[in-house]
Amino acid sequence: MLNLGCHLTSSKGYENMAKEAIKIGATTFQFFTRNPRGGKAKEINPEDVARYHELARTGGIGKIVAHAPYTLNPCSGEQKTRDFAYIAMKDDLARMEYTPGNYYNFHPGSHVGQGTEAGIQMIADLLNRILKPEQTTTVLLETMAGKGSEIGGRFEELAAIIEKVQLTDKIGVCLDTCHVHDGGYDIINDLEGVLDRFDNIIGLNRLKTIHINDSMNPMGAHKDRHACIGQGYIGTETIAKIINHPKLCGLPCILETPQPDLDGYAQEIKMLKEIKL
Ligand code: FE
Ligand code: FE
Ligand code: ZN
Repeated sequence: MLNLGCHLTSSKGYENMAKEAIKIGATTFQFFTRNPRGGKAKEINPEDVARYHELARTGGIGKIVAHAPYTLNPCSGEQKTRDFAYIAMKDDLARMEYTPGNYYNFHPGSHVGQGTEAGIQMIADLLNRILKPEQTTTVLLETMAGKGSEIGGRFEELAAIIEKVQLTDKIGVCLDTCHVHDGGYDIINDLEGVLDRFDNIIGLNRLKTIHINDSMNPMGAHKDRHACIGQGYIGTETIAKIINHPKLCGLPCILETPQPDLDGYAQEIKMLKEIKL
């Protein structure tokens, strides 16, 4: 079963996102919990959420993915930035309980100087302060391209964070196809090998969602510039292998491609459904 969707704008609320998702043939979607550059989150409207749940139920929308702002950096060298990471994630997770049982994805962060090991410790410390046994949301660490001092460009780094987290059943991983490709994992010629490494190092049971993106740059470029499917270095054939892979079956697949509008995503989703075996 193909469980496909794309990134949607959250500014008009949850019901609107469900309407848009259904319109483009999606069964899942992703949205920013607040302005991606940071700032205060919009107040949740319980009536909007109630209408969302009804629409999601009748329209076949399953688990959805909230994405933390890009400015959330738990391993920054600056205390002020680390404080924002704590406040924003805590607040986001509290608001996500209006839509229980979904995913909250974040970029592990950039250590900007103090080193990978110290950065990993800071990320784990934040998660250990924030995760609560009663929360219904699973927090996802996204695989990164390894740009600059970004943490999460190697599977070992994500595994090291998870190992330090106490409430381990609240943690999962989101695999971004553009990021792992840019990070140097050869999903084009050796998808099986990459998935085996993921399984050995992190565990495929941790893999909860996939970001389906092509890449504007060759493997190992550490760039993180997404391309539309079939218009980058990864290509449609490899994306087809991924969405048809038995080990990835049913996981929410989210397009984060640079489509100009909803129609663009509708067409991309249609194309992917056609290459689904
Ligand atoms: Fe992301
Ligand atoms: Fe992504
Ligand atoms: Zn990216």
